[in-house]
Amino acid sequence: MSKYAIVTGNERGIGKALTVDLARQGYDVLVNWFESKEDGEQVVGECEEYGVKALLHYCDVRDFDQVRAMKEFALENFGKDLQIFVNNAGMSIAGKLIEQDPADYLTVMNTDLIGAMHCAHEFAPVLADNNKGRFIIIGSCSGIRSTLGNCAYGVAKAGIMGLTRGLAQELGPYGVTVNNIAPGYINTARSAAFCGPEMIAGIKRSQVLDRIGVEEYIVSAMNYLMDNPFVTGQTLMVNGGSLMF
Ligand code: NDP
Repeated sequence: MSKYAIVTGNERGIGKALTVDLARQGYDVLVNWFESKEDGEQVVGECEEYGVKALLHYCDVRDFDQVRAMKEFALENFGKDLQIFVNNAGMSIAGKLIEQDPADYLTVMNTDLIGAMHCAHEFAPVLADNNKGRFIIIGSCSGIRSTLGNCAYGVAKAGIMGLTRGLAQELGPYGVTVNNIAPGYINTARSAAFCGPEMIAGIKRSQVLDRIGVEEYIVSAMNYLMDNPFVTGQTLMVNGGSLMF
């Protein structure tokens, strides 16, 4: 069996960019579709162009049984040599917490934080069994500085930092690193749909670098974490300097 990688929520955006780059590097990949099978098939096709095996699998990360089923599908079809797991699936529902329907903030928490915990519960032991590998979680700078009108998302992404530190301690003895990439604004189709030109100009003003974030910067952060065996439990902000600590 050859080496393989799993990225969740990879039918579009950052997840797709990470997956296609892993395929370019020769990893077999599992493509986790959620709302659009057609987009997932497109990602499979792009990965196959690099001569790797790419398989499509439906999974809603909010559902523990589906995450467990995705693990079983992976073990059956790719074997035990999982090298990289990237928890990328995420979403937000805008609204002030004090005005929001609890069903909305629960959806955000269940996707962005509980979904990540389900994935850690199921896939981290596979990496630990291999005594190597990388568990990477895509968080957000919103986990450090919650944005007004997006409180639940900030809470969930702050939780990701705790998950990263806790899981890093659990997996350290097995030589597996666990890190959180916290992007600032990244111009994916989904984020661009929410941000008009004025908002983008404001985001640029908040940064010290005069450029807009693109998926390749997150790909580059993933590759750094893949290469480095001595970085674990960290949050790596990729945000043009809009927030520093
Ligand atoms: P996209 O909406 O393009 O991608 C998110 C992916 O997650 C989609 O493929 C989506 O599927 C999938 N997804 C959503 N809910 C679930 C679920 N329950 N189960 C499985 N998959 C699911 O967003 P981005 O690429 O912009 O974001 C990717 C990650 O980066 C997210 O975690 C996001 O929070 C984080 N991030 C993004 C920033 C940005 O500016 N773009 C900034 C900071 C963090 P579908 O499309 O079918 O719903």
